[in-house]
Amino acid sequence: MRFKEWSAAAQDEARFFFILWRRRRDTDMKDENKSETQLMDELTDLRRRIGELEAREAACALNKKLIERLNHQNELVLNAAGEGLFGLNTSGNHTFVNPAAARMLGYEVHELLGKHSHSIWHYKKADGSPYPVEECPIYAAYKDGKVHHGSDEVFWRKEGTWFPADYTSTPIIEDGKIVGAVVTFKDITVQKRSEEELKKLSAELARSNSDLQQFAYTASHDLQEPLRVVAGFINLLAKRYKGKFDEKADEFIEYAIEGTKRMQVLIKDLLDYSQLETKSESFEISDSLSALDKAVFNLRAAIEESGAIVTHDTLPSIMADSSQLIRLFQNLVGNAIKFRGEETPKIHISAEQKKGGWVFSVKDNGIGIAPQFADRIFLSFQRLHSRAEYPGTGIGLATCKRIVERHGGRIWVDSMPGNGSTFYFTIPVRSRT
Ligand code: ADP
Repeated sequence: MRFKEWSAAAQDEARFFFILWRRRRDTDMKDENKSETQLMDELTDLRRRIGELEAREAACALNKKLIERLNHQNELVLNAAGEGLFGLNTSGNHTFVNPAAARMLGYEVHELLGKHSHSIWHYKKADGSPYPVEECPIYAAYKDGKVHHGSDEVFWRKEGTWFPADYTSTPIIEDGKIVGAVVTFKDITVQKRSEEELKKLSAELARSNSDLQQFAYTASHDLQEPLRVVAGFINLLAKRYKGKFDEKADEFIEYAIEGTKRMQVLIKDLLDYSQLETKSESFEISDSLSALDKAVFNLRAAIEESGAIVTHDTLPSIMADSSQLIRLFQNLVGNAIKFRGEETPKIHISAEQKKGGWVFSVKDNGIGIAPQFADRIFLSFQRLHSRAEYPGTGIGLATCKRIVERHGGRIWVDSMPGNGSTFYFTIPVRSRT
């Protein structure tokens, strides 16, 4: 078509040259109506048209080259892709297969082209039972026009073995009509294996945790009895024989009494900690203000002795195990009093509703904690001070952490030495259990 236009223009130009030549030769202008100037203008116009046509021709050639290069690049990308890729027509036959797909299935590309895909690599389930094509989601894509995804199916290799595959089948739509589907897939053997490993590990972890819990319970429970006997006899010793030996003997008996008391507290804390799950109550709507009030009541001796001022904002009702909530407040407020600085302890409790739940805070003006210990203090038996400075067993915050985690939340501290501490914990919104 373009050649035709070009040749017509070339013929026109030749005709004008011929006319010009004839005029000059005959100097007879009568049989021609047009002046020489007019003819020259038309010639110029013709030349312009020829120029335009040539430019269009060149642009077309360039476009063709670009399209060819793009096609080539697309092909390289599809061939180099690590994921398997199939094109299917509406009969379910392969119209395109990339090398990765053929490699994963153990075929050459040409062995798969034009073949019915389901009958080749998707015809059986992992247990060897037949997989009817009507149930296959890959085929559904070009029937219902929807994207189908699967990750619990297996694809069969040429040699008769299978691998777990993750695939997506997307319909191809042309002029509003479904003309086939494109399937991308990958071999997820490694992923499945790690999932299995992870499942096994978490089952083992759960078992060893429960063993450990049982051990802690038995150990602390069984230790209580002999300790009671020791404590009883030492107290008897102190009662009957105090002042009957020398001063050193009295001092030793005092130490022994002190030691048994500490051990009793430690064993009680350990026992309570190990029973956090087993002795827990179910989650009920609990008024966090009344839980705080009960905690403050339990701490009244320490509050009176220290002159601590405990204030709070409006506190919400939440789904919680109320006895554990009391314990949580009691441990945090108790610590805020215990780890006070020079000033009168001031403790403020507030709660803020955030996306997904409540964030509670217990703020004090105590000695504070260096940032490098912010995580460590939540582990059992981790204390930053000697017992002579501050009494305690180092189980309080570990207990808080366990209570909060049982409620599906998390706990952390924001503090600087000398600047007080704020302990935060979250309680997610949940339905009744
Ligand atoms: P305990 O109170 O028995 O020592 P915890 O587990 O309750 O054990 O606390 C662990 C450590 O965290 C404490 O020994 C203390 O060093 C630090 N800590 C806890 N609460 C506070 C607080 N409010 N201010 C400063 N330090 C704190």
